[in-house]
Amino acid sequence: MFQKILIANRGEVALRILRACREMGIKTVAVHSEADSQAMNVRLADESVCIGPAPSSQSYLNMAAILSAADICGADAIHPGVGFLSENAAFAEMVEEHGMTFIGPTPEHIRLMGDKVTAKTTALALGIPVVPGSEGGLDIANAAKIAEEVGYPVLLKAASGGGGKGMKVARTPADLEEAIQLARAEAKACFGNDQLYMEKYLTHPRHIEMQILADTHGNVIHLGERDCSLQRRHQKVWEEAPSPAIDSKTREELGKIVCDAIKKLGYRGVGTIEFLYEDGKFYFMEMNTRLQVEHPITEMITGIDLVREQIRVAAGLPLTISQKDVVFKGHAIECRINAEDSETFIPSPGKIQDYLTPGGYGVRIDSAIYQGYQIPPYYDSLIAKLIVHADTREECIQRVRRALHEYVITGVNTLLPLHRDLSVAEDVVKGNYDIHWLEKWLAAKAKKDAA
Ligand code: ADP
Repeated sequence: MFQKILIANRGEVALRILRACREMGIKTVAVHSEADSQAMNVRLADESVCIGPAPSSQSYLNMAAILSAADICGADAIHPGVGFLSENAAFAEMVEEHGMTFIGPTPEHIRLMGDKVTAKTTALALGIPVVPGSEGGLDIANAAKIAEEVGYPVLLKAASGGGGKGMKVARTPADLEEAIQLARAEAKACFGNDQLYMEKYLTHPRHIEMQILADTHGNVIHLGERDCSLQRRHQKVWEEAPSPAIDSKTREELGKIVCDAIKKLGYRGVGTIEFLYEDGKFYFMEMNTRLQVEHPITEMITGIDLVREQIRVAAGLPLTISQKDVVFKGHAIECRINAEDSETFIPSPGKIQDYLTPGGYGVRIDSAIYQGYQIPPYYDSLIAKLIVHADTREECIQRVRRALHEYVITGVNTLLPLHRDLSVAEDVVKGNYDIHWLEKWLAAKAKKDAA
């Protein structure tokens, strides 16, 4: 097992990984920017190294600085967390070249799934159903013809997309030209690559993703699905496991397809296969070759510590469980608490004045903030995740309401009021929502408030 792991990330996820390491008896190195010297993960780590100024490009994305820190501290592995360098194949390669272990899949698998066009082609070849669309990258000259074949509405997507950027819908042939131009411009600006692909635009799908776990001994298991349909601007806001729309037979069928594919691929580590689910059919969207922000809800219903398994697999150990040991118990919901205004979604960095977390049975908070903590303006606005577990979905929602009632964060704006509203919204309570529901609900609410 590793002696010392460098955690190349910040915020709640850095703390999440640190906690797993400490429980496993592994020493930790925190790396941080100048803006994060007071962060909780930095305070709790065995060692810490400042790797550069506040902007991520000069710190959390600064591969040379991170590798030097690992070298100086004598770390034998690097955990990239989520975001930043977690899906950067070149970084994974550099870590290995420096004689350390990258806690993640091979650089080849990261690269394969990082390009959404090759990912889709690969998924199809592995027997995973995909959204109908352009086969491979979109040939712009033939776009109109391809769109006719796919059938309107169509969605233009960036081949190197992420975070919902570079996506535009064309509802009719008359919209196509403009949608292509806009998607290309956004893709170029965000990813430096304007290659697009086209998909049929599904009008009322749910976002359902399968968690998998694979070791280097040929064992692959799935830990069921998460429903992440409640989204704003393609960003997840509220997630649940299991999905209110999936029964155990469907789960087992999809789980088998996914596990067979991952086995054929020879993949190692944790991974998530994202699908759109509409009218009883699944369509592959992408595979994330890393830990996901919403992984705790899977941990709550399976009792499996995903980060611990991930670290063990990276060290060459076999999984501690087999598929038959995976028992799904109860229901879990995660509310993403961002430091943002609950109505305008404008980020709200600043100093946390009062901080009082809920507790009690079935409540888990993954967060690195504390009273007096200064939220820097440079990074993602996620500051806390409220994760709640109960025997049934109904009890889980009651518990979410109870926990949100106790949660106090002052000094900055947060999404707590939004989550309180969602936890009593009729459609949410009934589990009756698709990926467009939240945006429509927010628009209706804004209209009502204005009147
Ligand atoms: P990104 O990597 O940028 O997050 P994804 O491919 O994961 O992009 O898509 C993000 C979100 O966009 C999905 O969760 C879903 O809400 C929506 N989306 C993606 N593809 C389609 C599609 N073909 N039809 C309808 N909505 C889609």
